[in-house]
Amino acid sequence: MERKRVFISPEPMTYKFGYSGEDWSYGREKDHMESMAKELRDYLHTLDIDAVIGRTDYTDDELRAVVKAETIAHAAAYKRSDESDNWKADYHVCLHSNGWDKTKRGPVVYYSNDCKKSEALSKSILNPLTVIYDRDNIGVTKQAGLQTDTFIELGEPKAIGAYVEVAFHDNKADAQWIVRNLVKIAHAIGDGIYDYIHGHVQVTSPNIIKKGIYISPDNFMKFSVEKSLTNNTERQRMEMISREVYNNLKRVYKNVMLGDLAVGSGDSGVDKRIRESNAGGYGLHVCIHSRSYNGIKFGPEVFIASGDSFTRDIAQEILDNLFKLYSRTFWSVPKTEPVKKNKVIVLKNHRELDNTNAIAILVKVASQDNMFDKQWMYSKKNEIAQMIGDAIMSQFVLKGKIRGESIYTHRLEWSDRGQVFDIVPI
Ligand SMILES: [Zn+2]
Repeated sequence: MERKRVFISPEPMTYKFGYSGEDWSYGREKDHMESMAKELRDYLHTLDIDAVIGRTDYTDDELRAVVKAETIAHAAAYKRSDESDNWKADYHVCLHSNGWDKTKRGPVVYYSNDCKKSEALSKSILNPLTVIYDRDNIGVTKQAGLQTDTFIELGEPKAIGAYVEVAFHDNKADAQWIVRNLVKIAHAIGDGIYDYIHGHVQVTSPNIIKKGIYISPDNFMKFSVEKSLTNNTERQRMEMISREVYNNLKRVYKNVMLGDLAVGSGDSGVDKRIRESNAGGYGLHVCIHSRSYNGIKFGPEVFIASGDSFTRDIAQEILDNLFKLYSRTFWSVPKTEPVKKNKVIVLKNHRELDNTNAIAILVKVASQDNMFDKQWMYSKKNEIAQMIGDAIMSQFVLKGKIRGESIYTHRLEWSDRGQVFDIVPI
């Protein structure tokens, strides 16, 4: 994909000041928004998105020369729009702090009513912005986050626009929140732009995340008694992979549970895990199995019961990650019956997928009944576990917050409110 171009337009006017008190003052909106713009630009570059900041040094004479403008602020908006068009921006993102009523709180993102894409981009930016705002301002009554307006910078530029008001600078609480979280806010806006460009549907909410992850190991109870000796060894090996996934996740994420590893009779193992997962109210339930299919099927497969985009995104990343590792090792595997590469499979009537309340995913790491796959699974069990864990973290927990880096260079710290986390480099 060609690098997308984001034109960042921070508040250009010098006369807008925020909260001012005896003990503390916000100062000029322009100064804070320019700092934020630099953070946003640098962050977008790390996400492989091109970004520039509009000119911040318009002179009064220059602005007065814009004859179609009714006010000097309008003149600046026209000039920014021209700059954006001349640079051939794909997206035009304005950065402001809000100020018109001292009782109003929270982030608002405005979109152009004539443009569905502007609405989608604005929504995508508002989402992570709201998550970080709510984290620090629990219980605060906010303005409606998504609104539409006919601002010049939403109508004039050819690029798709979003007009971000990060929070209200004319009350002390919001004003201080902006100043203290400048970098975080910039990154949240960057995440929103990235999510829009990459077509992610934003359905992650801290509530789902808080519920945690249940890892359900294979119990191999479907096999006949004659095979029990071999199956017992296979079972233990699959348990090692499940345990490894669990241990890796546990290092960075608090609320993970590994299902009971004890072997029951009949299907009691599965039922027990379904009960445990539902009783614990987990948000994600991941079954980790190997395949037994007459020795003729190779490679990883991932199954889900329904096709909703959030479930599919998590499952797809698990599959992609496993395939990366698999093809590196066994590029020449005899593909007698190749699995459907790169495609998550919707599976009907699977007891565990159907009966857990969580988002449920079934991973078949590879086959246990051919020597290629078997050797791969057991020699690569640590890498396999890490690949599964990476996908769960980036799609389910962080939704790509630390893209491009292994999650194992970071850990999550839970806030004292016990509701949300921070990502802290180890
Ligand atoms: Zn402004």
